[in-house]
Parts: sequence; structure tokens; C-alpha cells
Amino acid sequence: MSDHYEKVKFQLKQNASGEAVETEAAAEGEQMSPASVSPVTADVSCAARRDKYRGGGRSRSKSRSKADGHERQMNSKQVSDLIPQKSDPLRVCLVCNEQALQIKGTGRTLTGKTAKNGHVESCQRQTDGKCEHHGKEDRSKVAKKRRPVTVDISKAKTSLEALKLSIRQLKWKEFPMGRRTACDIYWHGVSFHDNENIVSGQVNKFPAGMIEMLRKINLSRAMRTMQELFPEEYNFYPRSWILPEEYQLFSTQICLLKDNDSTFKPTFIFKPDCGSQGDGIYLIRDPADLRVISGSQIKQAVVQEYIQKPLLIDKLKFDIRLYVLVHSLEPLEIYIAKEGLSRFCTEPYQEPSQKNLSHVFMHLTNYSLNVHSGNFVHSDSCNTGSKRTFSSILYRLASKGVDIKKVWSDIIALVIKTVIALVPELKVYYQADIPPGKPGPTCFQILGFDILLMKNLKPVLLEVNANPSMRIEHEQEVSPGVFEYVPSPVDEEVKVGVIRDTLRLMDPTQRKQHVATNTGGGSPEEAIIVDAGTDEIEGLADSLPSLCLKQVFPKYTKQFNYLRVVERIAGIFMRFLGVKGTMRLGPTGFRTFIRNCKLSNSSFSMASADILYIDITRRWAGMLSDSREAGMCLQAFFEAFFYLAARRYKALPLREQVLSLLEVCEGSLEGQGHSEKPRPHRSHKNTDPISARSSAPTILNSPALGGVPPRPSEA
Ligand code: ADP
Repeated sequence: MSDHYEKVKFQLKQNASGEAVETEAAAEGEQMSPASVSPVTADVSCAARRDKYRGGGRSRSKSRSKADGHERQMNSKQVSDLIPQKSDPLRVCLVCNEQALQIKGTGRTLTGKTAKNGHVESCQRQTDGKCEHHGKEDRSKVAKKRRPVTVDISKAKTSLEALKLSIRQLKWKEFPMGRRTACDIYWHGVSFHDNENIVSGQVNKFPAGMIEMLRKINLSRAMRTMQELFPEEYNFYPRSWILPEEYQLFSTQICLLKDNDSTFKPTFIFKPDCGSQGDGIYLIRDPADLRVISGSQIKQAVVQEYIQKPLLIDKLKFDIRLYVLVHSLEPLEIYIAKEGLSRFCTEPYQEPSQKNLSHVFMHLTNYSLNVHSGNFVHSDSCNTGSKRTFSSILYRLASKGVDIKKVWSDIIALVIKTVIALVPELKVYYQADIPPGKPGPTCFQILGFDILLMKNLKPVLLEVNANPSMRIEHEQEVSPGVFEYVPSPVDEEVKVGVIRDTLRLMDPTQRKQHVATNTGGGSPEEAIIVDAGTDEIEGLADSLPSLCLKQVFPKYTKQFNYLRVVERIAGIFMRFLGVKGTMRLGPTGFRTFIRNCKLSNSSFSMASADILYIDITRRWAGMLSDSREAGMCLQAFFEAFFYLAARRYKALPLREQVLSLLEVCEGSLEGQGHSEKPRPHRSHKNTDPISARSSAPTILNSPALGGVPPRPSEA
């Protein structure tokens, strides 16, 4: 048995130390419950792959299912492009539109353009960087000369085991007690502020903003801003109302819809703002139920349209946890892990009814809840049990004729659009914590995206976790009151790959070279059929599997850049923030913005600007739970900006209003001594008319109702 898997005895109370925001709850003993989860027949053996890269020969196969050879044969080809595979006999990569064929077992690569007949015409080795072959020998020489990358793991907390395994695979150097001199990389379990004194290197957490931004209310606000500008593009996020301030609105809108359509029988899910692991969540069928449950004091929360028709597997609801690496904010660089986890409910699903609303094991997919159900199945196999790999789900779907390329590309689009919605505020937080000129580390972060597939296969975003659990063990009660951590093969299969490949991408000796290969072309559809050779970092040890992280931005810049409108408004906001370290715009900053952007005129005086500032800032101060700082926050600035746009360009739809005002502002600011160059106005595919920013969500754009864009609403 490898040292990693020497079981760590611990007491339950130690577990509640709050180390990880999203800790995983105590697991019960392994028990199969065929009634609730039937085995999937695809052959995805976690244990075998894990042992291969651990270097150990340990084998665990307690409950691995017998694979059905036929289904395996049929599906493995279709899904092989999705999952990282070390030994793909034929990998097609995109390097300057040429293909590279990796010949199994030889380490040799042939490159060339595909001829019309589908054969590859070989090409000569080029040394200009466009098309290069990397022989094993060259690589090992480089590896020998290079000093090992150093990683401070002293604050890794619950991700420690996965991190140690990853570092071992990379043959890097870990510092479990920290290091007096600087390390190349610092891996923090929870927050950037775990170690305030880092002034160089790279840290796996962004400053505080990421946690703030991903709370349920802030995420809903960010998504709503995008839904107002791009209703069709952002219809993957369920309609949400922010409580308590929008309770009345929620009530009125739902009553109206019910009055107009007697067949309309919605269900809503109430989620406390700072909750996690399903805590404090409940389902309701009518806004009035909120008052019954919460009394007169409704807490800070989000109430959201409940997706009533999720895709089921073995009659069970499940969700998908995908890991997304935000490699950098400026320039924006995003990677998606090709493998993820699927977490299953443990009671067969039924559409919500008054009788089953409180059945958490039927409606909530949280591992931390379902692990306490008698039906939870811990499995050594990645394609059975209550927690499986996402690829095993894709195998299943592919075998039923589902177009999994479409599913995957929809998921990629969802991830990119979500990050685009979050970036504006993250940049404000980043600048406040690490102002330009102040020494600080470079930040990156792994996020956990929770996605639900609807029955019609449309992905819906449930939430984004700033601190996804990277634990690769689960708890088991070995004797009454004594718990042990035992390996969880499915977690290890997915999470070690994500951490290891994140580290590979952050390798300080490789970064510059890598960034230079981005072209911004391509489409998410290609992502599934092309295992991009450009993702593979040059010079890496041959013993490692190909990268499980797929770059999706800037790779797909061309398709998604037009959505980055709010980021441009945030750019203007940051420009007028003035004092370093602040995140709120003062009245003088706002006046300067109006003046420098030449927005005051005979019909909008500076006095009107002052009144606008006071009105909006006051209202937002009442809405924000943590109004420690005075002044106008970014969201309030968006509201002011949208108001000014609507005022000036009354006849245009909202998006055109905002873009027109942006042009004016950026045009005026150009040449006023700011380093940031305004981005060009992009053309848009979608010109749905929405005439003004509405502060209210409209149920019409719900994913469950088919994503119909909202009706125009007046400011
Ligand atoms: P938490 O952070 O507490 O886990 P989530 O937003 O992830 O909160 O919700 C918990 C669970 O509730 C999800 O894993 C999912 O199964 C279910 N859920 C959440 N939102 C919805 C929704 N809008 N429609 C259907 N199910 C949902």
C-alpha cells in the first residue's frame, strides 16, 4: 500500500475545523444499493489509471462492474476525444492548421496538412515555432538541466493529498512547512489571504473578490446584468430574485403569470446567500410559502426558478461538477477540465409536488447530503455509484444516440459566458488588493462549476464554487465513533489530474512560451473533436498523460468577445476610482467621469449628475449586506451607466444604448492619459430589442420555459 493511502485516523470533531469552504461530509460504509444506482457498462477504470500514474501496483476493485464489451467498443471512440488519455493512438492537434499524428508507443509525431483524401501529407520539421517535433531525447536533456519547480504546500489543507500526488508525478519539489526563500508556486486551501506576505511567484487564489463574487446573490446580480444585455446568450441561468429586497416583485410577477395561465405550476428553490452543501435550501410552490417558512424576516437569499425536468440516469437526478481554471484575468485565459464529476441523488426523481417538496435526496444532488442516505453507493469504479466521472455519463448518453459534442460545446459556452460575467467585478477586487505598481504574486484559481442537464440536454448553471473540494478521500466509520479517510478513486481520478495540469500550466519555465501559442480562432464544437496539441506544453516528461485541461479562452475569443461589454464599463469605473485600494467611486470621481466623458449638457447638468449619484448610491448601500466602504459600488455604477445610456439614446434597444454610450465615453477618454485603449465596437449577431435596463427579472427567459427572451421593459 502506498504511503499516500496509509489511512489517516481522525476524530470527527477535527473534521469540522472549517478548513475548506466546501468540505465533503462524512461517508458511510460502502454499500451497494442496486435499487437506486445500477452499474454503467462503459469501461472507465479509475483504479487502473490511478495506479499507473501513482507508480504503485496497488489495486482496488471492490465493486467494479463488469463492462459490456459491445457498448464499450461502440462508445469509447466517441468519447475518447473528451477525456485525457495518455495513449491515444491518433491524436489530432491544431498547430497552424496542420495535423499531428502521435504514433502510439513511439513518442514520434508526424505533422502535415490533411490532403483531400484524408491522408496526412508529411511535412518537414520547421524550427520557426509554427510546427515543431519534439524528440524524447531533447526533452529529457532539457528536463535534466532545469531546476525543479518549488511549491509551498503548507497551507494546502484539504487539497494536500491530491497536491502531493500531483507534485510527485511532476517530479517537482514540495515544501510542507513553507520556505524561507520564495517558492515558485503557493497552493492555498481556502483564500488568497492565507499568506499575506507573498510578493512574488504564483498563488492559486485570486484576492478576496472571487469568494465574494461567487456568493449566490452576487452571482445572480452579475448574471442578471448580462441577461439584460444578452438575454438569449445568458438563458442558461435560472430566473432568480434577490431577497429580501425583491420579495414583492417576485410575488407580483408570479401571481401575474399564474393569473394569465392556469396551467403554470412553477416550483422555486430558496438558497441562503452564504449557504453551501445544500444548507438552508428548500423548495416552494408559491411566493406566499416564503412568508410561512421565513416569517416576516426573510434572510439574504436567492429564490430561483426550480428546474423541474432534469435529465435522469437510472431514474435519478444528478449534477455535474466541472473544474475550470481561470489562468489569468488580464489577458483573460480560461481552461476547462475535460473530466468532471457527476453527483447523484439517492432517491428516484419525481417532478415536484406538494408531497415530495421536502425530499432532499430526491431534489438536491449535494454529496454532503446524499452521503447520509442509506442508498448512497461508494464505488471504486468511475462509472457506477453515487459519484461518477462525467465522461461515464457521456458514454451512457452517446450509447443512446445523444449528440454529446453538442452537449460539451454548450457546456464550454456556458463556462466562458459565466466567467465573462464575473470578470468585471473580479478586476475591481484585484486592483483593490494588488494595485498596479504594488509588488504581488500572480494569481490563478480553480473554480467548481455546478451544472444541471435538463431533460432536453440543455445545460443550466446552478452555482460556481470558489473553493471546490479537492479532497480525494472520503470518510468511513471503521468502528463506532472512529473514522478513517479512505481513498476515493473517482475523486482521485478527476482531481489529481486537475491539480497536476494546473501546476503544469503554471510552470514558470513554460508559461511565456505557452501564452504565445494562442490564436483566438476555433470554435467550441472543435473542442470535442480535436484534442489540441497546442494545449500540450512542450518539454514535459513523456511519462505524464496529455493535459486534461483544455484552453477555451482566448481560443474562442472570436465567438465570445462581443459579450465583454460590461468589462469595458468596469474599465471606465476603475479609471475614476482614484485612491489605490478602494472599490467604491466617490462623488468627485463620479463627477470627473461625467465631465471627462463629456456627458453633461443642457438637459443633464452636473447638478443632475450629483443627484443621480446620491440616489443610486444610497439605494445600493441599503441593498448590500457588507457596506463597509462608502461610495458607489460597481453594480451601482452599471445602473447609473445604463440610466445615462437610456436617457441619451431613448429610441434604441438597451444593448445599443449601452454600446453607444460606451463609444462616446471611450472616445472622449482616448488620449486623456490612460494606458487602457478602448476596445473597438463589435458587431452583434443578436439584436433583440430590449429598450431599457429593468431591475426585475422576467420569468419568460427561463431555461425551463425554453429560453424565450424577455419582453421589452421601460426604465
Ligand atoms: P449549495 O451551495 O448549498 O450546494 P446549490 O445552488 O448548489 O447550493 O444547490 C444545491 C442543490 O440544489 C444543487 O446541487 C441541485 O441539485 C439543486 N438545485 C439548485 N438550484 C436548482 C435549480 N434552479 N433547479 C433545480 N435544482 C437545483
